[in-house]
Amino acid sequence: MTIKLSEVAKEKGIEYFLISFVDMGGALRAKLVPAAAIDKMQEDGAGFAGFAAAMDMTPAHPDMLAKPDPETLIQLPWKPEVGWLASDCWMDDAPVASSPRVLLKSQIEKAAAEGYRMKSGVECEFFLIDANEMRVADHHDSARKPCYDQLALMRQYDVIKRICDYMQQLGWGPYQNDHEDGNGQFEMNWNFDDALVTADRHVFFKYMVKTVAEEYGMRATFMPKPFNHLTGSGCHAHVSLWDTKGKKNLFLDGSNDPLGMSMTAYSFLGGVMNEAEALASIFNPTVNSFKRIDSATTLSGATWSPNAITYSGDNRTHMIRIPEPGRFEMRLMDGASNPYLMQAGVLATGMDGIEHERDPGKPMYNNMYEDGQRLKRVRRLPLNLLDAARLTSKSKVLRRQLGDEFIDSHVKLRFDEWRRYATTLSQWEVENTFDC
Ligand code: ADP
Ligand code: MG
Ligand code: MG
Ligand code: MG
Ligand code: MG
Repeated sequence: MTIKLSEVAKEKGIEYFLISFVDMGGALRAKLVPAAAIDKMQEDGAGFAGFAAAMDMTPAHPDMLAKPDPETLIQLPWKPEVGWLASDCWMDDAPVASSPRVLLKSQIEKAAAEGYRMKSGVECEFFLIDANEMRVADHHDSARKPCYDQLALMRQYDVIKRICDYMQQLGWGPYQNDHEDGNGQFEMNWNFDDALVTADRHVFFKYMVKTVAEEYGMRATFMPKPFNHLTGSGCHAHVSLWDTKGKKNLFLDGSNDPLGMSMTAYSFLGGVMNEAEALASIFNPTVNSFKRIDSATTLSGATWSPNAITYSGDNRTHMIRIPEPGRFEMRLMDGASNPYLMQAGVLATGMDGIEHERDPGKPMYNNMYEDGQRLKRVRRLPLNLLDAARLTSKSKVLRRQLGDEFIDSHVKLRFDEWRRYATTLSQWEVENTFDC
């Protein structure tokens, strides 16, 4: 039985609903709807001009309708009279295949038909920035190795506590908060869940962090590389695959694999590794993303981001880490990665890996930050958004798994970002070309 939102509003004292969706560019778009008007909106959806958001549409397209999923309702912990809802985009009586939440749901359905259910947890790193200037908000946060710095963490206690309290209130199971490897950089972790639940929470987490930071007179950013000399913001995804009841972790090995991973796990991993170059424009979707991966050493001594397509056990210098039996950590994604598309990309290629029993090769146990540039036989990640988007466009696997409609739209929007960047004159060019 569908939940009637007007009744929920009465029961919980909700006065307004935010009907939200994430566009292909990862931005959160919404309409604020009074509770008195919610029943019609729940049925028909809230109308948006797709062209005005980052969707591959023209101004001539009909309205795109965001239909809220009542299961996702969150009363804003800082303003409970507002109920936030994640939505699926529809047009002409059909779901919009390239809309990120719809795309993830279709991958989840396909996997379920094969007997699989993906669970995942994300680590969304972010910086707390001065409200008026592009510098770290805490002016005393300047240590060369600031990771886990207790003083710097506790100077931002009020903000971090507030967000963590909210996560507890929402029942997400937060379990740790820390200062990360860049000055002004933080991470807050909560428990993994079904891929769609995690993606919806990921969307809300970014909104919540930005909102609370603003309340404390700062700004928060998930930008992959906001400062040249500091470690960038990754968004690692931890992944495991379960039976459809969610009872049995199918990545766990019953025999004696040294990393405790099953054949299913290695095939899934093989699928993701096989398409890593093509996935980069989804996991690293901005011009700025490529300043984080395969980048120069940062002030702290390591970038903590991958420089090649390799995997390992509990070793953070590789693109994929197996921290313990039964799960992978994909370290390629950054803070700009669309919460739905990153899960969809992992699941789609993992399923392809299982179907074709793809072999990920042997794990490597070296320090990739020392050896990375010297090793000849490892595959490299694309160096910029243009190369990355071209590889996505050419990927037969991604086209088969995610559909031509999504890939064509995604690639078009990535090319468009590249073009706008490439046609902007930069200070670097002036400095390096003036005396030509
Ligand atoms: P890291 O060691 O990479 O810093 P964190 O503790 O910051 O790890 O984040 C780990 C994430 O992985 C959390 O969201 C956690 O809930 C999630 N996780 C743990 N076990 C699994 C699992 N079996 N499947 C998916 N995600 C998991
Ligand atoms: Mg209007
Ligand atoms: Mg972490
Ligand atoms: Mg981290
Ligand atoms: Mg991690």
